Amino acid sequence: MNTTLERQPATSLKVRCCIVGGGPAGMMLGYLLGRAGIDVVVLEKHADFFRDFRGDTVHPSTLQVMDELGLIDGFLKLPHQRLQTMDGLFGGTPVRIADLRQLRTKYPFIAFMPQWDFLNFLREAGQRFASLKVMMNTEAVDLIRRGESIAGVRAKTADGDIDIEADLTIACDGRHSIVRERAGLEVEEIGAPMDVLWFRAGRNAGETENVFAGVERGKMMISFDRGDYWQCAYVIAKGQYDAVKARGLQTLLDDVVRMAPILKNGIADVNSFDDIKLLTVAINRLTRWTRPGLLCIGDAAHAMSPVGGVGVNLAVQDAVATANLLADKMQQRCPSENELDAVRRRREFPVKMTQWMQVVVQNNIISGALQPGDRPLKVPLIVRLITALPWLQGIPARLLALGVRPEHVHSRAAPSSSRAGIG
Ligand SMILES: Cc1cc2nc3c(=O)[nH]c(=O)nc-3n(C[C@H](O)[C@H](O)[C@H](O)COP(=O)(O)OP(=O)(O)OC[C@H]3O[C@@H](n4cnc5c(N)ncnc54)[C@H](O)[C@@H]3O)c2cc1C
Repeated sequence: MNTTLERQPATSLKVRCCIVGGGPAGMMLGYLLGRAGIDVVVLEKHADFFRDFRGDTVHPSTLQVMDELGLIDGFLKLPHQRLQTMDGLFGGTPVRIADLRQLRTKYPFIAFMPQWDFLNFLREAGQRFASLKVMMNTEAVDLIRRGESIAGVRAKTADGDIDIEADLTIACDGRHSIVRERAGLEVEEIGAPMDVLWFRAGRNAGETENVFAGVERGKMMISFDRGDYWQCAYVIAKGQYDAVKARGLQTLLDDVVRMAPILKNGIADVNSFDDIKLLTVAINRLTRWTRPGLLCIGDAAHAMSPVGGVGVNLAVQDAVATANLLADKMQQRCPSENELDAVRRRREFPVKMTQWMQVVVQNNIISGALQPGDRPLKVPLIVRLITALPWLQGIPARLLALGVRPEHVHSRAAPSSSRAGIG
């Protein structure tokens, strides 16, 4: 093998497709390619999916994909909360931003479900495909190259390094993708004016709250009912976390409770800044998603702002489009770079449109609100209009729920893809 890596590891594996990263993009794509009977391995660097504060919103577009795959009934049996209207308080004035009940779609709600439940579900559902292998605790650390092409990855496991030779490598390793970095792909930064502090606060049975988001001069607070806890996001101006810390934990918690009084008891769960996770918000995208033998999708190709909570769903849509466009070709060979680039040509428009809308919200609503000062906060005209005219609430609902150019599953299931005796 003509690789640029010098030391040879003890073990190696040869597959048609190696997916790096077991997040929403990687697990959904692994499922779809396994279903199509393609020899595919998904590498996930962690031993499990149990990490807090990842995107937990499953939008109607993803629910529709689960329906098309025949997985929806089992999926909706998992514990989740459903959100149909998005309400808020803007400088003390009640506003409604979206109403999903107006949508003509089979699943007109956002399901809040821990991302680990979603990923475990996909993993378990995929176990029936003989050609799909998920390797946990396996971290891609470098690329294998054959001439100009990417020919797989070298990965680190508990038992030592392994070379995974693949006709096609697909980077689904998120916004800090090592694969895209090693491939030298250029990232275009678009930027965001805010960062987000995430934390959990305890919730007693019977505590209910319709307010989805509160905006006041200099701060924003969002809380979601997650069953036995409130998932909270406190939005601060970019780079201000050290200043927040300098003011002290109690000042922050007092502020949180003032904006969201429902958290009065549960906030006791936040004992130190260690209980708070900083999300450095980024919006960026690759200008080129491919190299010969390599494709990037999901956050590895485009990190999204948390505005609208669409990142998981875009990652899933990328996976569906990738399988639709490439699965048949991958039965025989690695698609050419031009064929791989069909994924960018299909998905770049929805990504750019979504990021554009996120930037509009950031620049026109969030930035203004986060400016310090004493001036009272005025509800932006567009928000006033949407609140006053309920029929308008279907438009943001549609953009949020289904996104731009929603994908449907067209890739075929191979008749012989199931393991003997299962499924
Ligand atoms: C704090 C926070 C809150 C968010 N909230 C929301 C929300 O409410 N709704 C929403 O839709 N989106 C949200 N997002 C964004 C959302 O999580 C992402 O857009 C989405 O998960 C992208 O999916 P992905 O599969 O492309 O990448 P990721 O979910 O980032 O998955 C990448 C996977 O690759 C693995 N990995 C990384 N490097 C390697 C390697 N070298 N080898 C092997 N495995 C590797 C990682 O462990 C991870 O499992 C949030 C993100 C953060 C950080």
